Amino acid sequence: MKLTSFGYRAYSFPLGVRSARGAVGLRRGFHFYVQDAEGRTGWGDAAPWPGDDQELRLASAGLANLTGALFHGTRPAPTPSGIAQFCRANAITPEAVCAAELALLDLLGQQLGRSVSSLLHAEPSVSVRSHALVDDVRQAELAVAAGFDTLKVKVGVADLDDDDARLARIRSAAGPDVRIRIDANGAWARDQACWAIERLMRHEIVLVEQPVQADLITDLGYVRSRVPVDIAADESVTGPVGLRRILAEGAADVIVLKPMFIGGAAATRELAELCAAAEVPVYVTHALESAVGRAGAIHIAASLPGACRGVVCGVCSDVSGGPDVAVPGGAGLGAVPGGAV
Ligand SMILES: [Mg+2]
Repeated sequence: MKLTSFGYRAYSFPLGVRSARGAVGLRRGFHFYVQDAEGRTGWGDAAPWPGDDQELRLASAGLANLTGALFHGTRPAPTPSGIAQFCRANAITPEAVCAAELALLDLLGQQLGRSVSSLLHAEPSVSVRSHALVDDVRQAELAVAAGFDTLKVKVGVADLDDDDARLARIRSAAGPDVRIRIDANGAWARDQACWAIERLMRHEIVLVEQPVQADLITDLGYVRSRVPVDIAADESVTGPVGLRRILAEGAADVIVLKPMFIGGAAATRELAELCAAAEVPVYVTHALESAVGRAGAIHIAASLPGACRGVVCGVCSDVSGGPDVAVPGGAGLGAVPGGAV
């Protein structure tokens, strides 16, 4: 693949999501692009989780390193795997790897007249199922009216009384048949997690995401062994080494894979295969980034081995399309910067 131009530019948009890791008023990241001689442009997205500007700087530095290398020579090979190898060798952040790989897949798909998901798998899904991320009654009502049967609620945001009262209101608004997952984003210590979950179980919770801090894998398993509800690992999943430990210790019932934070399509598919071999289900979610990165997550989710084709996340701002998210079937990614988020 011969590239005639490449580079990246910063983006930001208002988000308005809160979690145990703080409120996110503004989602920030970088759009990485590659162009060919025919004027086609492939897009990728690098968006570290907000709150630490150092991560944004590292993503920017990684993209600068990559564009510099592309500009000056023949390394890295301008292919998705060539980019991934270069990024691994140069300790480029997962978000930058995700962006570069996605941009090349987008461009390659446009050149070949194939969707990104079909580049990743011979028979990708045409749609992926989404849950809706909601924070209050109004959002829950909107999501249920749009057909969602699974809601996700962030907990650990204020205190347990607040979580309990908010979940009661959301359960009441959603009705008895809707599945509710909660996500603590590592807010709790292990015993605190056990009694918090025991208390919140009265709202018929079906899944608890990341109850304890990301690096405390043994504590994750401790919680899993003591509560009668499925436990998902999310922030704990950063690469194959950590994932193998989670699987070996039986620390989670479900693995959440975010292509943005684990380094793109190839990395996500590698981890999904480890999960499939261990017969542990996978949910793929985007990271509330721009339409480009979200589309990438949808294509990747649609390309996983059949048993673990996962769930993407619909946030309260975009639930109107319903829970079955169509995978763009045209050439490339099917999303550009400035698209709906
Ligand atoms: Mg999570």
